[in-house]
Amino acid sequence: MLQGRIRALAESEAKFTAIADYSYDCECWINPEGGLIWINPRVLDMFGYTPEECLAMPGFPAPCVAEIDAARTVRQIRRALRGGTGQDYEFRGRRKDGSEFWGAADWRPIYDSRGGYLGIRISIRDITQRKEAERRLETTVAELRDAQSVQQEYLTRAQDEHARLSALLAAMDTGILFVSYDDRVVYTNPAFTRIWMIAPGTRLIGRSPQEVLATSACALARPEEQGRHVLRPPREGELLTALEIQMADGRLVTQQVHSVEDVYGRPVGHLWLFQDVTRERQTADQLIYLAERDALTGLYNRHRFNEELARMIADAQRHDSRVALLFFDLDDFKYINDTFGHRAGDAMLIRVAGEIAGQVRRNEIFARLGGDEFAILVPEISDEMLRVLAERITHAIALVRFQFEGQSLRLTSSLGIAVYPDHADNSEDLIARADTAMYQAKDAGKNAWRIYRSDLDTTFQMVKRLSWNDRILHALENNLMDLQFQGVYATDNRALAHFEVLVRMRDKDDPSVLVMPGQFIPMAEKSGKILDIDRWVLRESIQMLAELSGIPALAVNISGRSFDEPMLPQYIAEQLKHYGVAPRRLMVELTETSAVSDLHDAQRFIEALHQTGCGVSLDDFGTGFSSFAYLKHLQVDSVKIDGLFIRNLPNESDNQLFVKAIVTVARGLHKTTIAECVEDEETLVMLRNFGVDCVQGYYLEKPRADHPLLVNASRLQHTNLELRFS
Ligand code: C2E
Ligand code: MG
Ligand code: MG
Repeated sequence: MLQGRIRALAESEAKFTAIADYSYDCECWINPEGGLIWINPRVLDMFGYTPEECLAMPGFPAPCVAEIDAARTVRQIRRALRGGTGQDYEFRGRRKDGSEFWGAADWRPIYDSRGGYLGIRISIRDITQRKEAERRLETTVAELRDAQSVQQEYLTRAQDEHARLSALLAAMDTGILFVSYDDRVVYTNPAFTRIWMIAPGTRLIGRSPQEVLATSACALARPEEQGRHVLRPPREGELLTALEIQMADGRLVTQQVHSVEDVYGRPVGHLWLFQDVTRERQTADQLIYLAERDALTGLYNRHRFNEELARMIADAQRHDSRVALLFFDLDDFKYINDTFGHRAGDAMLIRVAGEIAGQVRRNEIFARLGGDEFAILVPEISDEMLRVLAERITHAIALVRFQFEGQSLRLTSSLGIAVYPDHADNSEDLIARADTAMYQAKDAGKNAWRIYRSDLDTTFQMVKRLSWNDRILHALENNLMDLQFQGVYATDNRALAHFEVLVRMRDKDDPSVLVMPGQFIPMAEKSGKILDIDRWVLRESIQMLAELSGIPALAVNISGRSFDEPMLPQYIAEQLKHYGVAPRRLMVELTETSAVSDLHDAQRFIEALHQTGCGVSLDDFGTGFSSFAYLKHLQVDSVKIDGLFIRNLPNESDNQLFVKAIVTVARGLHKTTIAECVEDEETLVMLRNFGVDCVQGYYLEKPRADHPLLVNASRLQHTNLELRFS
C-alpha cells in the first residue's frame, strides 16, 4: 500500500518534474531564507548553467544577473520572500559566457498542504525578443518624433517664409492678383486694392476677376478702348504684352500678365501685375522737358529748335509750302547784364520770353537759342503776315518797361527774317540768312526788323564778319592799330581848338592798307572788342598828351557800347593821373544814338566823365530819334552836328533850318556846337553865319597820322629835352 503510494508519489513527482523540467520558462524555488532549493534544466538554455551548478552557486541569483540589475534583483527577491505575488519583474540576465539577455520574472509563495510557508517559486522567461521589439519601436517612435520635429521646423520655416513673403508682397508697390485656372481670385496684395481703389476689407478671394473689377472705384479714361483688355487673360498662343491703362483721374497704370504652371508644367492660372507709373512717367516727361527746354525761360532750347526747323522744312518740302525763320536779339542786352548783374539780365530775358510767347501761335515754335538770342519758326505764312508779326514782336519788346533797383529800363530788339524756300533751301543756310537779316536790322540802327535781302549780303561779307573778330584781336595784339588826327577849328578865327583822334587798323597781310573804322567798329561793337579798342585809343592818347605837353586837347571817340563798362570813367581818371595829364586836355565824344538808347546810363556816364574833368561832346547829333528832347538831360559841353546835315549844306534848305535850330537850342542850354564834314568854304561861311562855334572837315584838313603840329610839338619837345640834358 505504502509501496503503491510511494510509487504513485514518485510517478506524480516524475510527472511534475517532467512538466517543471520541460516547461518553457526557467522555474526555481527559493526557500524562505533565500536559498535556492530547486531549479529546472531550462536554466541551462537560458543562463548556460546546469541546475547543479546553480544549486552549488554561492549568492544565487546575483551571478546570473547583469551587474547593473544585481543589487536591485536581490532586494526584490528579499521583498518577494516576505509574501505576495509579483509579475513582470524585468532584469538583465547574465549567462555563464558573460553575454546578457532580457528576462522577466513572476513569483508566487509556496505553501505545504497544511499551509506552512515554503518560500517562493520564480518563473523566468526570456523577453529579449520583446525587449528588442520594444527598443526598435522606441527608436522608431523617437525617429518619428525626430521626423515630426523636423517637419515642425519645416512648417515653422515655411510659415516664417510665408510671413516674409506676405510682408514683402504687402509692402510692394506692384499690385498682384493671382487668378486660378478656373477664373477665381486666389490672392491679392494690398497694392492691388490700392491701385484699383477697392475698399479695404472687400472680400476678393474666390471671386471672378470681373467681379473684383466691379468693386473698384476706378474709372478708365478710355473705357471703350481699354476696358476689354483689362484683366483679360491672353488667348492660346497670344503674345503677352504690357498694357498701359489710363485712369480717368490722370493716373497711368501698367498691366502685365504671366501664365503660371505647376511643377509638372500644367497651367494653374495667371499672375497679374499692376504698377502705378504716373510719377515715373512724369519724371520721364520732366526729363524730356529739361532736355528740350531752356531752363531760364521755359522756351524750347536750341536742340529742340533745330529739330523743329528740320521737321518744318521737310514738311514744307512735301507740301510745297513756306517756313519763316525769325531771329532776334536784344539791343544792348550785354550792357544791362554787365551793369545790373545777371539777375537783372535773367529777369529781363524771362520778361521778354513771356511777352513774345503771348504773340506766338500754337503751330509756331518759339525758342531761346542762348544768350539774348531768340528764334521763332512760322510755317505757311504770307509776306504780309510776316511783316505784321515782325512789327508786333519788335513793338512788343520796345514796350517792355523793366524796373530794376528803382530804375526803369527799356529794351529794343533787332529782328531778321529768312524764308524757306525763298532765301535758302536748307536749315543751315536759312539760319545764316536770318542771322544776316538780323545784322542788317542792327546796321539800320537797331530797334528794327529786316527781311533778308541777298543784294545786301554776299557770302564774302559773311565770311568777313566772321573773321573780323580775329583781325581786330590780331591788330590789338600786334601793334597794328593806328591813330590819325583831325583838327577842329574855331569858326571865327580858324584857330586850332583841338584834335579828334580817329582809329585805323592796318591790314594783317598788307600793313600799308588802312582799314577804316566804319568797317570794323560796328563789328567790334557787336563782339564787344570795342571795349579793348576804346581803352587802347584812350591809353595811347593820354600817353601822347603826357609826352607832348604843348599840343592842344585830344578828343577821343568812345562807343556807346562802352557804357557796358561802368568802370571806364574811372579808368580814364586813373590813366590821366598815372601819366600826369591835366583832365581838361582830354575830351570824349559819345555818339548820340547810343547815348540816347539809355538815357539814365548816358547821364551817369557823362556825369562820371565830368567828375574826372574831361570835356564831353555828343557826336553825330541829329541822327538819333528825338535828339532835341534828350539834349537838356545830357550834361555835355558840346554838340557835334552829324556830317549828314553839313556835307551839302548850301544846297539843302532843310538842313540849314536844322543846323540853325541846333545852334539855338545848344546856346540856350549853354553848349557849344561843332560841325563835322565841312568840305568847302561856302559851307564854312554858312556855318559861321549860323553861329556854329567850331568846324572840322576835309576842307580844313584830312585826318592824318603825322599832323605837322603834332610832329612839330614832338620835335619841339625833343629839342627841349635835348636842351635840358645838354
Ligand atoms: P566820327 O566820330 O563822327 O568821326 C568823323 C568821321 O568823319 C571820321 O571818319 C572822319 O574821317 C570823317 N570826316 C572828317 N571830315 C570829313 C569830311 O570833310 N568829309 C567826309 N566825308 N568825312 C569826313 P572815320 O575816321 O572813318 O570815323 C568814322 C567813325 O568811326 C567816327 O565817326 C567814329 O564814330 C568812329 N571812330 C573813329 N575812331 C574811333 C575810335 O577810336 N573809337 C571809337 N569808338 N570810334 C571811332
Ligand atoms: Mg567823333
Ligand atoms: Mg561824328
